[in-house]
Amino acid sequence: MNVTSIKGFRDVLPQEKARQRALLEAARRVLESYGYDEIELPLLEKGELFRRSVGSTSDIVEKEMYSFEDRDGAVIALRPEGTASAVRAYIESGLTRALPVARLWYSGPMFRRERPQKGRYRQFSQVGAEFFGRDDPAADAETLCLVADICAAVGVRGTRIDVNSLGDAACRPAYRDALAAYGRAHASRLCDDCRTRLERNPLRLLDCKNEGCKAAMAAAPLMIDHLCDPCRSHHNEVLRLVAAAGVSVCANPRMVRGLDYYCRTAFEVMAEGLGAQDAVGGGGRYDGLVAALGGPEMAAIGFAFGIERLDLASMPLQDEPENPVARALVLIAPIGEIAAGPALALARRLRQTGVRVEMESPGRRLKAQMKHADKIGARFVVILGDTEIAAGKATVRDMQAQRDHASLFDLVDDAAAIMTALESIGPNEQR
Ligand code: AMP
Repeated sequence: MNVTSIKGFRDVLPQEKARQRALLEAARRVLESYGYDEIELPLLEKGELFRRSVGSTSDIVEKEMYSFEDRDGAVIALRPEGTASAVRAYIESGLTRALPVARLWYSGPMFRRERPQKGRYRQFSQVGAEFFGRDDPAADAETLCLVADICAAVGVRGTRIDVNSLGDAACRPAYRDALAAYGRAHASRLCDDCRTRLERNPLRLLDCKNEGCKAAMAAAPLMIDHLCDPCRSHHNEVLRLVAAAGVSVCANPRMVRGLDYYCRTAFEVMAEGLGAQDAVGGGGRYDGLVAALGGPEMAAIGFAFGIERLDLASMPLQDEPENPVARALVLIAPIGEIAAGPALALARRLRQTGVRVEMESPGRRLKAQMKHADKIGARFVVILGDTEIAAGKATVRDMQAQRDHASLFDLVDDAAAIMTALESIGPNEQR
């Protein structure tokens, strides 16, 4: 019996990986243009970190987190999200003092034991960003601009950004009570999960996907009508600034988020064509979290995109030509063992100039090597046979023009000269 992968854990094969890399690169460029610096965070953290941040009543911690005892008995967890780790690192490194306004971004795998389906996996990747030290509405607006610009740069189709305010410590408790009271009055129509949420996390009653619960909650009180004055003016100013920046968002008073730490601005990014799992990203303000994890009182706002979903939402449509990614451009074809050494040396020199080079096996016949060149879509084949080696030169076959350029360069030439030689052959598409 073959050993297969674990349910919900998938392989990212070369074509998808190339697309993921390209989209991550596009996101990185936008993030850096907004002044964000990259950090790398560990995959394993103390379980307590997520309990104290994401929240012990959240689905993520309660039902989905991979947490286990280490050999020394410590409870550790595979990270289900990046914000808690980013905040921990920001505090632990002392950056809260050195860089009290900081913009940090990260990417990498996250782990949640959810029910796998299209666009939902147990290991998936996120690219996320955290903006520390600013509590003014312009910081929220800048973050929403960044979110919109990443979507545009990646080429996500049919994006919609839903924005809501979740209130703060001053106004949310009373709203929570009002919502729980409404839920209790309609408890007979709620699913089992929602009945549990009723006492533990009533906000989540609003985003249950169950049709019965949706109907029961249709007339539920909304946070937006219970905001205190500072939260209301913050929210209005965020919406005004975002509009002034030319970014369109949808005010959605029914949107809540699965994580406990959000306050005030919360948002979710939806894309077309993803079916049930249509959220490509989400985030919000989490002003209390830095202090809750032992740091100073400090405002913060952040978000994360799911990389697999960004990919699904930006895949070329059928009639769009596929972007020709990372194809081998030069195939070196050594004919016979004598050619193997010079061929390897030449391949290295070309690679050092950034050209993608594949080298064939010296034992194969030229015909087979040329067939392989066709298969991988090589633009040039550098043929090194006995004649070439004796002359210290190589034959370069232009696969597009279907002709040979004999003895175009000496094997002893330096890489720059080889590049110039290649460039002079055909259109400048080696890179
Ligand atoms: P969250 O941290 O729950 O706000 O998720 C942010 C984004 O990560 C979502 O909008 C999705 O794009 C992505 N995401 C979350 N959970 C999964 C999952 N199980 N599989 C794939 N992508 C996910």
